[in-house]
Amino acid sequence: MLFQTTIAGSLPKPEWLAETEKLWAPWKLKGDELVHAKRDATLLAVKVQEDAGIDLVTEGEQARQHFVHGFLERVEGIDFAHKVEMGIRKDRYKAMVPQVVSELKLKGRVHDAEAKAARAHTQRKLKFTMPGPMTIIDTLADKFYGDRVKMAFAFADLLNQEAKALEADGVDMIQFDEPAFNVFMDEVNEWGIEALTRAAKGLKCKTAVHICYGYGIKANNDWKDSLGKEWRQYEEIFPAIAKSPIQQVAIECKNSRVPLDLLALLKGKVVQAGVIDVASDTVETPDDVVKTIEAVMKFVPKENIMATTNCGMAPMNRNIAEAKLNALGAGAKLAREKLA
Ligand code: ZN
Repeated sequence: MLFQTTIAGSLPKPEWLAETEKLWAPWKLKGDELVHAKRDATLLAVKVQEDAGIDLVTEGEQARQHFVHGFLERVEGIDFAHKVEMGIRKDRYKAMVPQVVSELKLKGRVHDAEAKAARAHTQRKLKFTMPGPMTIIDTLADKFYGDRVKMAFAFADLLNQEAKALEADGVDMIQFDEPAFNVFMDEVNEWGIEALTRAAKGLKCKTAVHICYGYGIKANNDWKDSLGKEWRQYEEIFPAIAKSPIQQVAIECKNSRVPLDLLALLKGKVVQAGVIDVASDTVETPDDVVKTIEAVMKFVPKENIMATTNCGMAPMNRNIAEAKLNALGAGAKLAREKLA
């Protein structure tokens, strides 16, 4: 089927689980109550995607506070008690980040509860997202390895361990999120793609990488305003991604200043084209979705196009996010009728 739909990964959390409309939202519950609430929210996230006509669903990232730290919490060798301030994404914003203080190891499974809950309750294909190695090391202070690349490869091995376990749980696609890829373009080519390939090594399920210019928060919007009329960062990294074994690339297209002709550089890859803007509360119409797909079709063969959201919807208003999901499902259906 043409133009299958998916989402970047996250959905807003219900107000009984966490504070709403913010990143790093504190949980509202503790202990077993939190465990149960995360599971319930996971099932709801799957259900709203199914009802909107999303083909490749996610668990909505309901069980993690943040897309990077949800993974890091289960890694031994990180000191969360003594956070330090660090400028991340080349100093775009400051964050209090934990420090790596000894050799990195997984404490056990990271995402088994929510992966198994989602798998048990949907017949749809299931995508699972994890942060990529470059994005992880850009969100942490290093007090042990003394070498960013060495630390990134150590994380790649841990990601690979969890990815293989998720595959065994019945996950159909692993997507690594690498928003750092359009910030450190030289390093992407020097070692970023190699680290990503290592994280995906030996997987038999589908693999994807999501690259983006970030959530619709102020620091990101200001940065985007500084990048000029055309965002050409991808020109430097797409050729290397095209050569890598990663099968799919998820990228923002709606209201994006990424020139869509750059997508032609991703020869042979399936493009998960962002047709829903997560930085705007204006809900797209199905026709808007068709138009974006049509624009992408100029540069990507239609059988290689999926439709998705530009980025995660975690910080959005829940009603708006659900309306946007519906537009995504309805728009892809209309595109199948009009553009097949
Ligand atoms: Zn994103």
